[in-house]
Amino acid sequence: MLKEQTFLRIPGPTPIPPSVQQAMNRPMMGHRSSEASDLISSIKPRLRKVFGSTQDVIILTGSGTSALEAAVVNTVMPGDEVLVIVTGSFGDRFAKICEAHNVTAHRLDVEWGKSFQTEEVRSLLQKNPAIQAVFATYCETSTGVMNPIDSLSEAVNGVSEALIIVDGVSCVGAVETKMDDWKIDIMVTGSQKALMLPPGLAFIAASERAWRRIEDNPSRGFYLDLLKYRKDLQQSSTPFTPAISLLLGLDEALKLLETEGYPEVFDRHTLMKEMTRAAFRALEIPLLTSDADAAETVTSVQPDDFDADAFRKLVKSEFGLSMAGGQGHLSGQIFRIGHMGYCSPADMLQTIAMIEIGLLKIGKNIELGKGVSAAQNVYMSKEGAQ
Ligand SMILES: *Cc1c(COP(=O)(O)O)cnc(C)c1O
Repeated sequence: MLKEQTFLRIPGPTPIPPSVQQAMNRPMMGHRSSEASDLISSIKPRLRKVFGSTQDVIILTGSGTSALEAAVVNTVMPGDEVLVIVTGSFGDRFAKICEAHNVTAHRLDVEWGKSFQTEEVRSLLQKNPAIQAVFATYCETSTGVMNPIDSLSEAVNGVSEALIIVDGVSCVGAVETKMDDWKIDIMVTGSQKALMLPPGLAFIAASERAWRRIEDNPSRGFYLDLLKYRKDLQQSSTPFTPAISLLLGLDEALKLLETEGYPEVFDRHTLMKEMTRAAFRALEIPLLTSDADAAETVTSVQPDDFDADAFRKLVKSEFGLSMAGGQGHLSGQIFRIGHMGYCSPADMLQTIAMIEIGLLKIGKNIELGKGVSAAQNVYMSKEGAQ
């Protein structure tokens, strides 16, 4: 086998398009140079579009978690009470960040594999009027669930003044995000998922209401103090040295998304989700999530008659195909297929074909081509509909 060839089908980091890879190899430049500020000023309005906001999107150098922590330290103070909606391990991470900053986190724990119900959020806020912020996860990567972020503000407004803070790391750029229309106060994403870049950049935007809260907060920390970033971004600059190579890559990645067109990008992700789900249905292998809850960017499969981890190991060594395992109590129970960013329906056909061979090799009695054919049929029916 060609050992160098790999198929990275985990929900981040994701594959990098060749033109993005090349853009990142351009010669280094000074971060205070006019070239750097031209680069940032070109990126600025395009990121606002990705977030669906008129607010500037701040670029941090750090993994996605740096922006989650920035969201916490800038908006709430030690002793404050918040509500954290936990639908999986990333919701749990938000709660842990709050606790690390001595913020009291009330948890709404939802069964892993399901999305949260906005009515439950509303009733918890009614019971706890001291809550200053609600933390939620858009796509819960650990389970492959898409949460109802578009209707969260309807549940919060009217009963609470709490800010709505959303982790969109594993889907912003792949699914429609309307931060302003949906009245989201803070939205966060990272570079290594839907944005087709290596890890190392995190993005965070805040509503006007959130900025007022941030301005009044006396303890914003140092490196993650968003007021510093906002001030410098107005001059198309950053307070500290940014990951310049990644910014060059971001410029190119945004170009690719813009050339394809955002509605087409979103449709491609929906199509990949539907192809993947149809394949496992045809193969009679259970999915963790319902159709209504399933994410466009990652699919969780919950086999009932073979070992998920042994299966992943087998296809990794057979084809160089990487899939993710389960986290927390789902460890060993599920495997997760990432289909976001630089990933096409053609990639999914190939992935499903490799998976079928893996299934046979692990001893599962399936008919080769059944999953591929189901995915092909989904593809053809979408083509017909256009
Ligand atoms: C990947 C991911 C993060 C960020 O993780 P890092 O390892 O810090 O980049 C945060 N939230 C979600 C939902 C994610 O999928």
